[in-house]
Amino acid sequence: MILALVEHDEGAPEELSLESLAMARELATAEGDSLEAVAFGDEADALGDELGEHGVEAVYCVAHDRLERYAPDAWAESVVQLASEHEAETITAPGTDRGREVLARVGASLDAPLATNCLAVDIADDGAYELRRNRWGGSLIEHARLDGEHKLLTAAEHEFPIEPAASTTEPSVSTFEPDLEDDLFAVQVDRVESGDEEGIPLGEARVVVGGGRGVGNAEDYDQLEELAELLGGTVGASRAAVNEGWRPHDDQVGQTGAKISPDIYIACGISGAVQHMVGCKGADTLLAINTDPEAAIVQKADWAVIGDLHEVVPELNEALRDA
Ligand code: FAD
Repeated sequence: MILALVEHDEGAPEELSLESLAMARELATAEGDSLEAVAFGDEADALGDELGEHGVEAVYCVAHDRLERYAPDAWAESVVQLASEHEAETITAPGTDRGREVLARVGASLDAPLATNCLAVDIADDGAYELRRNRWGGSLIEHARLDGEHKLLTAAEHEFPIEPAASTTEPSVSTFEPDLEDDLFAVQVDRVESGDEEGIPLGEARVVVGGGRGVGNAEDYDQLEELAELLGGTVGASRAAVNEGWRPHDDQVGQTGAKISPDIYIACGISGAVQHMVGCKGADTLLAINTDPEAAIVQKADWAVIGDLHEVVPELNEALRDA
């Protein structure tokens, strides 16, 4: 059995969870194995219908009176107990901080190998997995072999397309009650503070307007905000802009920020450092607006406007407003 950890928002599976399910389903199909899911949180039992569309045959909702808030060790121990009860040999998780954090602990507990950020997985004749995975934020691709009684994998962001399964299943939905000692709650989320929840999440936006050090100050992001709004998109930033305090860290695109895969990325005043580019290489089209024709991002762009963004962006906005 292949057990997939699924994160959800009040019963709606998160996008990266569906991507990792796509990877898990490929493996289940190739191995002739069943695909089953484990989820935490109050409304996990609402996941059944949607996960059925992705080929999941059973959903286990973890129930425990101390698990109302995220606790990585307790989540991992729950997954370990469930995997051992149902003889899951492969366990997958989404390519999120939480997915990696939980599977790392599962790996330590089961003494099992973990491959994060997988791009593709094949099954060798001896049953081992032969995989490609991102290293160094995607600037290196590693070819690796994963073998062992248990195999643990996370999917790289935006590498496995979310598609419904060839045939829909009607998964059984049941409660799983783990036996959890107090010390598993030594680390637990205490409170959750939400930032600005307006707008489209960066990872899901079809249009992203990125601003870097070339924007010059926090106020001039208004021009980028307007451009993003006119195009139905959202604003991102380079780390330089975040370090300057012009944008929140949630806006950062790159190795230590969000990975985006929009239809178009409009990079304004961004030089195109490798750590930035690994975050936006999933964009279908890259338009750079930069004063420097030699900037790395201009060399990599599909289209470039060589000019001052403080002139180019307002002109674009005006043209779009009049369109
Ligand atoms: P700069 O490199 O200073 O480039 C500014 C650009 O703006 C230049 O090309 C300039 O020609 C142009 N410009 C200036 N004025 C104008 C104007 N008026 N109009 C148009 N263009 C103009 N960076 C990230 O972005 N994301 C990450 O996740 C990330 N992770 C990192 C992780 C590590 C471990 C390290 C070491 C670095 C990381 N960095 C990351 C930093 C990265 O190396 C670069 O320093 C950063 O991306 C540079 O940001 P920038 O392009 O905005 O600034």
